[in-house]
Amino acid sequence: MGLKIDFHVHTCYSCDSSITLKDVVGFAKKRGLDGVAITDHNTVKGALKLKTRDILVVPGIEVSTLDGHLLGINVTTPIPAKLGIEETIHRIHEAGGIAVAPHPTAFYKSPPSRRVRSYDAIEVMNASSIPFSVLTYLSKRFAEGLGLPQTGGSDSHYAPEIGSAYTVVESDPDVDEIVCAIKKGATVPRGNGIPWKTRLERTVLSLKRKI
Ligand SMILES: [Zn+2]
Ligand SMILES: [Zn+2]
Repeated sequence: MGLKIDFHVHTCYSCDSSITLKDVVGFAKKRGLDGVAITDHNTVKGALKLKTRDILVVPGIEVSTLDGHLLGINVTTPIPAKLGIEETIHRIHEAGGIAVAPHPTAFYKSPPSRRVRSYDAIEVMNASSIPFSVLTYLSKRFAEGLGLPQTGGSDSHYAPEIGSAYTVVESDPDVDEIVCAIKKGATVPRGNGIPWKTRLERTVLSLKRKI
């Protein structure tokens, strides 16, 4: 059967997201997810704060390295930003996590370097990337070329976006087991791009907040 997990969710602990910790749980359940990875920009505060028995929470971080964004999955200690990508991968491993390259083909989203080969997995489906199908296709080819496991996530910054894309992981509901399953490649990315209606709602709401 497998677990449905969205491995890329930003909460209000990211400067550019409006998603409260309560929203994460509510929307994840509504979408039928078994769990989410909280991957805020350069902080693990939200990931550590979210305590719930309703869904599985995988702690994580999205680090702004000198060579683009990098996801640290199963990380509970902060990883400093603005280091080289190889050094950041090393720090993520030291912290007990795995390094996943997010949105590697979305040129406008600060993608991680494609010259690096030491990632543990590649996020081939990123629901907030446009054009979704083309970038998913190119990211899959990139992952296949390196022979690396594939994941999917929504990159949500607005609650209704949670679970647009996700990963089916063949694993027991335990964070360490899930990480092992990703490393083994027991993953299938699933889902779609965020619908235009939802993108529009998010834009209108963020403009309203600024006025
Ligand atoms: Zn990113
Ligand atoms: Zn992100």
